[in-house]
Amino acid sequence: MPVIVLVADGARPDAFAGAMEGLPALRRLRDEGSFHTVSSVFPSVTGPAYTPFLMGRFPGPIGLPGLRWYDRARTTCGWPDHARSYVGYEMGRINSDLDPGAPTIFERVPRSLAAMSVVTRGLARSGAVGGLSPRSALRATLTHFRGRAEGWLDVDREVSAEIVRRMRTERPDFLFAALTGVDKASHARGHDDALVHDALVIVDETVARLRGDAERGGWWGDTHLWVVSDHGHAPVHAHEDLAGVVASTGLRTVAHPWSARPSAEAAVMVSGNAMAHVYVELDHRQRPGWPQLEARWSGLADALLARPSVDLLLLPHSIDRCEVRSAARGGAMVERSGARFSYCRVGNGDPLDIRADIAGTADEVYDATRGGTYPDAVVQIVTLAGSSRSGDLILSATPGHDFRDRYEPIPHRSAHGALHREHMLVPLLTSRPTMRTPRRTTDVFASALAALGLPAPAVLDGSSFL
Ligand SMILES: [Zn+2]
Repeated sequence: MPVIVLVADGARPDAFAGAMEGLPALRRLRDEGSFHTVSSVFPSVTGPAYTPFLMGRFPGPIGLPGLRWYDRARTTCGWPDHARSYVGYEMGRINSDLDPGAPTIFERVPRSLAAMSVVTRGLARSGAVGGLSPRSALRATLTHFRGRAEGWLDVDREVSAEIVRRMRTERPDFLFAALTGVDKASHARGHDDALVHDALVIVDETVARLRGDAERGGWWGDTHLWVVSDHGHAPVHAHEDLAGVVASTGLRTVAHPWSARPSAEAAVMVSGNAMAHVYVELDHRQRPGWPQLEARWSGLADALLARPSVDLLLLPHSIDRCEVRSAARGGAMVERSGARFSYCRVGNGDPLDIRADIAGTADEVYDATRGGTYPDAVVQIVTLAGSSRSGDLILSATPGHDFRDRYEPIPHRSAHGALHREHMLVPLLTSRPTMRTPRRTTDVFASALAALGLPAPAVLDGSSFL
């Protein structure tokens, strides 16, 4: 009874639905199964946004607050910079940075195959397709730094051929494969470019081959095949040098690639590139919380919020309480108490554009926000803000803006990472009808375990749609 999860990395639900009309294998899945729009996690960026598929968890509390983060506790990242960037050679650190108490699907399903997965903890060496082999990893790296978006489609074709071959010969219980062409092409050319469509054609052909083999082999009837994405995409017209903005307030500031600097006073860690963690008082091994920082740092908060690039400024007060500010829409407080979440507007404020105070379980609050400007933002904000590895100030970018204007090997015409719906919503296509409407990408993990007849771990941020 194999479960196959294909990630069309960076595919937006509207673009995916439109393209699907002309892609026969995907369209057939939709007609026989179901097609949904679900939400990803904050930050909506590859790496953190894979933990829902592979661990059923939101990334912050299990140690992955962003694609880049600053190790205030100095227990995980080494001297001299005490900072992590999963862009490049440190990508392999994700496995050991993650909470060892949170199981991965590979630890639960020994007969797994995975290709281009950023989380591989528990995966048998023989189960690592392409991505962990030196030749393919090297090729991916070279393609990245040469900045050729077409090269990523060649990587996708290689991955596709390899997973089809190995599914046919090895018949594993679980296959996870990421095809990254949609994301790379979107960054380089824009999400509506023909190259993005070419990348989706590869996804369609992969589904067609996997299905054809399963039908010929007589095991399609037992197979679950799901196609999903980890984040959306939206055009960018203005690149803010956020590290430069923070430095211009007079602070000695570190940011990748120059993450080590003596007596640094602030660290700027960008993801996607439409979100960022900003850390201050770097000599404190524990995050002080905004009430302790406000007297000294309110000027920095005001300066950041005044930038047109900053849509939402998040100020974590404690592990389960976070202030949210918008320059145009004022402030609110987001809180968690046990299993209940709440959004409470301050004065006339309504930064998340919900138009009401709301409270309830994670699913109730999700349902109240799924159609709005910031789907699932209440749960995502308080969850990320509660991570001890998160910044003292957390930024979500205004649509059209991002937070890095230098050192990108691929030009960023399109971006992701923020809380806005264009970044947070993703497609979910299933080969059979679901028993209920899925909500989040975390439901994929819970559903995979259910399909394989395995018990769910004690802590899980999603539930099965089967
Ligand atoms: Zn991307």
